Amino acid sequence: MPPPPMMLDVDDVEDSVCMTWSIDESGTMRHRKTGTKVSTKEGITFEGMEYRLSPEDIELEADSHLGAGACGVVLKGVIKQTGIPVAVKTVKVDDKAKREQLLNEIRGLVAAEGCVNLVHWYAGFLSKRTSVVHVALEYMDLGSLAELKKRLGGYGVPPEYLSNITAQIMNGLNYLHKKKMLHRDIKPENILHNRQGEVKLTDFGIAKDLDKTIAMAGTFVGTVTYMSPERCLGNDYSFASDIWSVGMVIFELSTGRYPFADIVSFPVLFEHLCDKPEPRLDPEYFPAELVEFDAYCLTRDVSRRPAA
Ligand code: ATP
Ligand code: MG
Repeated sequence: MPPPPMMLDVDDVEDSVCMTWSIDESGTMRHRKTGTKVSTKEGITFEGMEYRLSPEDIELEADSHLGAGACGVVLKGVIKQTGIPVAVKTVKVDDKAKREQLLNEIRGLVAAEGCVNLVHWYAGFLSKRTSVVHVALEYMDLGSLAELKKRLGGYGVPPEYLSNITAQIMNGLNYLHKKKMLHRDIKPENILHNRQGEVKLTDFGIAKDLDKTIAMAGTFVGTVTYMSPERCLGNDYSFASDIWSVGMVIFELSTGRYPFADIVSFPVLFEHLCDKPEPRLDPEYFPAELVEFDAYCLTRDVSRRPAA
């Protein structure tokens, strides 16, 4: 007999937020491409059939661990009725304020819907008992750019591919910035890709108080950061801070290595960010456009760093 299917551990669902791609006045959300419709009253409509998405509708695949981060694990699952694969991310939110904030963030994510370069959210389920939020995300079958880097085994991404990847990253970021949202955590792990050649940002807008601070970075010797100098210094930071992070990621993907080579302690990282010349790609090995683009992003002077 086959083992019983694994289900989400949400026995006491306090709140459930479903979202797709557009919302009309009645609060019904629609996915334009597939005609999928989500309304609070009627549930989900997919290919003419109506379903209500609830935790029971998502079946997790056994041994389907996609990854883990500071906040929890990511498992692969499937929406049973439609067969649509999803990545289910678990985030611990252990007090009421955090949970409410998370729901606010999810509202922000609805605002970000509609851009092909941002990962879509199907639903969020909040468990009162375990203080855990499960979020069903669009599944990206090639994983993150951190995994792409690993697969390349020390080599950089060829510039012609990198220009395509960069254009998609910037399109997603520009969409967020136009909606007055910061990403705040751009790094290779938070940029996903799939076999269709699509590149999408993820983890925008999720629980900002789980934000890494400079103090926290200091406790992890050798931890790399993609944070801008102004942010590391604790100064005000804004949209330009995301642009710095993109510059760090593009540098790393070009060369196959993190821009600051010898981070042995927090003061060393600090020196790289604040005193040493900013990282620059070698024009002898990389196309002029790539070198120039990355130098623009990695400009310490915020007033001279361009917008998305
Ligand atoms: P952090 O805790 O700082 O967010 P992280 O980004 O590595 O670090 P997660 O966001 O939990 O941690 O994601 C862990 C990994 O799971 C990612 O690096 C990626 O490989 C995988 N992953 C996340 N979301 C998806 C998705 N939608 N589709 C496929 N794989 C995913
Ligand atoms: Mg992440």
